[in-house]
Amino acid sequence: MIDGKAIAAELSQGIAEAVRRVTTEHGVEPGLAVVLVGDNPASEIYVRSKTAKIAATNMRSSFHKLPATVAEAELLELVERLNHDPTVHGILVQLPLPPQIDPRMVIEAITPAKDVDGFHPLTAGLLSTGLPGIVPCTPLACIMLAKKVHGSLAGLEAVVIGRSNIVGKPLAQLLLIENATVTIAHSKTRDLPAVCQRGDIVFAAVGQPQMIRRDWIKPGATVIDVGINRVPAEDGKTKIVGDVAFAEVADVAGAITPVPGGVGPMTIACLMLNTLKAACAQNGLPPPAVNP
Ligand code: NAP
Repeated sequence: MIDGKAIAAELSQGIAEAVRRVTTEHGVEPGLAVVLVGDNPASEIYVRSKTAKIAATNMRSSFHKLPATVAEAELLELVERLNHDPTVHGILVQLPLPPQIDPRMVIEAITPAKDVDGFHPLTAGLLSTGLPGIVPCTPLACIMLAKKVHGSLAGLEAVVIGRSNIVGKPLAQLLLIENATVTIAHSKTRDLPAVCQRGDIVFAAVGQPQMIRRDWIKPGATVIDVGINRVPAEDGKTKIVGDVAFAEVADVAGAITPVPGGVGPMTIACLMLNTLKAACAQNGLPPPAVNP
């Protein structure tokens, strides 16, 4: 079992210490601005856990809640104000956004230096050309967890299921940087179980509850489950499950992340790390040496 919660706690502790150092030695207090539009209950939960973690890592935070009916222009104005606020080093606009707002416009309005989610096209371009820049949080979390198991990923067969701009594609780029051999699968992939069977590491970022089954996984392979799916529970309530049928796959995998408690907490820790890195870069300081 890859204990994402424990690894994230270790990483957060290192971040908190590094934040204390840049604050006392250089007078820089890393700050993250979180913007939430509307009342999406899942978004409220994500934002709550992110703001709690900001405080726990000694960073400054500001929270901006806008009504679901807000005009796109008003949100863009807020982003522009935050772009120019020297106490804000990272800007996070929680997705999804209401239908009157084009998420692309908002993502592209965030100045790349403060794009701690790593969704801006310029950030994506830097990553795909191997230039230094911010790395999106969830793919970074996946790489850190995989390296906890394997140390080096060089030469390993990595299968990424999902090709979204926020998870699958940047994850594939990071795996190439790590010298893995990468296959990206998606909804049009033929014989997905056979493709998965090739993987020394399988990353599932699909959004389909428990789709990846025991016989898709090569015995001993590492399985990193990015999926967060809400499904009905036996008690009539709901529960969160991943994209992997955990109980049966855990039987055959060499290592596996649980959901919850795997990629999720590491993603939040990586957001804190990106904010710290952005604060250092914006103040001409070297990148902090923090690793899980
Ligand atoms: P997305 O934008 O919906 O992309 C899903 C990808 O999966 C697409 O590339 C799609 O293929 C592929 N896919 C869908 N059904 C498939 C099937 N039956 N067989 C093969 N491929 C299939 O989702 P996302 O934003 O990448 O997120 C993926 C999952 O990760 C979701 O459950 C999301 O909640 C979760 N997530 C978790 C975190 C975290 O912090 N843990 C962060 C972000 C996302 P096509 O491109 O062909 O449509």
